[in-house]
Amino acid sequence: MDSSLTRVTGIHHITAIAGAPQENLDFYVGVLGLRLVKKSINQDAPDTYHFFFADGAGHPGTDLTFFPWPAMGPGRIGAGVWGEIGFVVPPESLDWWEDHLRASGVAPGARETRFGEVVLPFTDPHGMSLSLTGTGTYEDFEFTPWERSPVPEEHQIRALGSATLTVRSEEATTSFLGGAFGFAFSAEERGRRRYTVGEGGGGQRLDLLVDPETPAGKWGVGSVHHVAFRVPDDAAEADVERQIARNRGRSSGVVDRFWFKSVYVREPSGALCEIATDGPGFGVDEDMNHLGETLVLPPWYEAQRGQIESILPRITLPVT
Ligand code: ZN
Repeated sequence: MDSSLTRVTGIHHITAIAGAPQENLDFYVGVLGLRLVKKSINQDAPDTYHFFFADGAGHPGTDLTFFPWPAMGPGRIGAGVWGEIGFVVPPESLDWWEDHLRASGVAPGARETRFGEVVLPFTDPHGMSLSLTGTGTYEDFEFTPWERSPVPEEHQIRALGSATLTVRSEEATTSFLGGAFGFAFSAEERGRRRYTVGEGGGGQRLDLLVDPETPAGKWGVGSVHHVAFRVPDDAAEADVERQIARNRGRSSGVVDRFWFKSVYVREPSGALCEIATDGPGFGVDEDMNHLGETLVLPPWYEAQRGQIESILPRITLPVT
């Protein structure tokens, strides 16, 4: 690998499609203990929310975002649609989490060992496939506990750990993810092929499952919409964009998302990827002590705020 090339440093955020917005809030804030760091709208469907959940300071690498679209049918993991999303927690917290999930009405799956780490799989109320990996390998990234979380500080989710993709054949996808983003093959175990960037710790992993028979995936309730990879700044993003072009990817050009700048591209099997800058972050338009408490609108929608607020479903933040 040419070390002079700019590489993505890990996962920036992951965006998924949820069912009813209140159920989505209740689960990610009330059960998983994440902080709602931004309450906004979908810029293409302003009558629907866009929620951003993260650690106490909204650090890149900790952020899972949702479009609650309950009218959409169920999604399906498969070719072109990302699968299980992994979070990382301290290894000694897995017993606490298993009890906590059960007490919250979530039946976790059987524990698995993957590459020497214990993984607890479970699904969210809208069928999204999630897991908690007990690992100490997230230390490279910044994490701020959320003091109003219902999850005690020592057990809180530290970061997004990994994303999973099922492909019918591997070559085109791995060549693209390697060439454009810098993911390199790390290890294989029981058909799970792990690709990593950087040190390969939590947040720096992609797992590929190869299944020539996998059905076409479908966006819908409970499916991932896209996985975003982080770069430190605009210059690094421009570099990665050039690498995408060299690897015959067609990207969107830079889209200003206010809290970060984004470039979108589909990898060869069709799964949507994004490159996002680490800054400026969620404090750019709100007081850090009051993130997510009021509806934040893109400037061009401000004139319609009254109408938008009257159409959006009523929601209340779970009391924690
Ligand atoms: Zn995104």
